[in-house]
Amino acid sequence: MKKIQMVDLVSQYQNIKPAIDSAIQNVIKNAQFINGPEVSAFKAELENYLDAKHVIPCANGTDALQIALMALDLKPGDEVITPSFTYIATTEVMALLGLKPVFVDVNPETFCIDSSLIEAAITSKTKAIVPVHLYGQSAPMNEIMEIAERHNLYVVEDNAQAIGCDYLLTNGKTVKTGTIGTIGCTSFFPSKNLGCFGDGGAIFTNDDELAVKIKMISNHGQSKQYHHDIVGCNSRLDNLQAAVLRIKLRNLDKYNDARRAVADQYDQFFSSYPEIITPARAKNSTHVFHQYTLKLEGVDRNKLKDFLAEREIPAMIYYPIPAHRQKMFETFGSASTNLPHTDWLTERVISLPIHTEMEQEQLDVICNSIAEFLKK
Ligand SMILES: *Cc1c(COP(=O)(O)O)cnc(C)c1O
Repeated sequence: MKKIQMVDLVSQYQNIKPAIDSAIQNVIKNAQFINGPEVSAFKAELENYLDAKHVIPCANGTDALQIALMALDLKPGDEVITPSFTYIATTEVMALLGLKPVFVDVNPETFCIDSSLIEAAITSKTKAIVPVHLYGQSAPMNEIMEIAERHNLYVVEDNAQAIGCDYLLTNGKTVKTGTIGTIGCTSFFPSKNLGCFGDGGAIFTNDDELAVKIKMISNHGQSKQYHHDIVGCNSRLDNLQAAVLRIKLRNLDKYNDARRAVADQYDQFFSSYPEIITPARAKNSTHVFHQYTLKLEGVDRNKLKDFLAEREIPAMIYYPIPAHRQKMFETFGSASTNLPHTDWLTERVISLPIHTEMEQEQLDVICNSIAEFLKK
């Protein structure tokens, strides 16, 4: 049996090796490393896949979030409503731009922002909502868009964990997450559902004017060469990464299906264990299982993790410290924010290996090892 890993990128590469190797060789042969034809082809292919009017590739998911917020002309002191139960990048960029993240608790069933708590957090300074499609399923976007419209707020979707996820809108249309709000952001970090061989990211929008601005900001605020109209940054996806992403994008639906198949097996296995709560499915959303995350009831999480580690089975805690308890937000007084579900989840979640090349034997070993631990 192959060594069990949270994600097995080596096996995934082996299965698409000829296509990847020739695409990479092709980029090297032409020595077009920046802004090459692979980047423009990938941009068009991703626009098509997402049915988004504009995709602007950039250097990573954190930059995507930062550039999105820069494009909205927010002023220092403006407030942005967002969950604390997320990867730090979501909220760090707000602080970097002088904005104030206002943390709202999550729904303990879906792990995503609880839309029923958003309105109470809105003040005269609130300018935007940044929902996170955590672990691979959509935040309640119908409710969020309705609140945003009522209060005239922007919505920036952090879609770094949910590329390929479908969402059913109130109007009956099914769309991809990341294309619902004002702007969507994603990451192509290697372990993401659509990952490259280094860093990468992208920004999506259906707004023509915003697309122009986002493109300018990501390229030194440049309108035409050497004319810099606004302060921007340097955030590019390189041609090698785009070449890899083009091949992986063709496999994305298949990859997400493979993840769902693993999740279904886990669900089934753990259904007879009352001390393990399997991930609930959010309303109106499919799930692309960037993570398969359990909640433990009366189980010593550290002991379980150690027990699995002894058997060379990795498991991860996403995330051990929520944003509102991070030292970087100390001056915001965020630790005193009352987020009972976030704190509760932080203590109880554990994510199991899930990836596109999981073998039946590996899955059985993981399940049986957890069962063995619970019997003790
Ligand atoms: C990965 C991730 C990011 C950041 O992406 P990078 O490419 O690592 O900068 C942002 N938000 C969430 C929810 C993520 O999972």
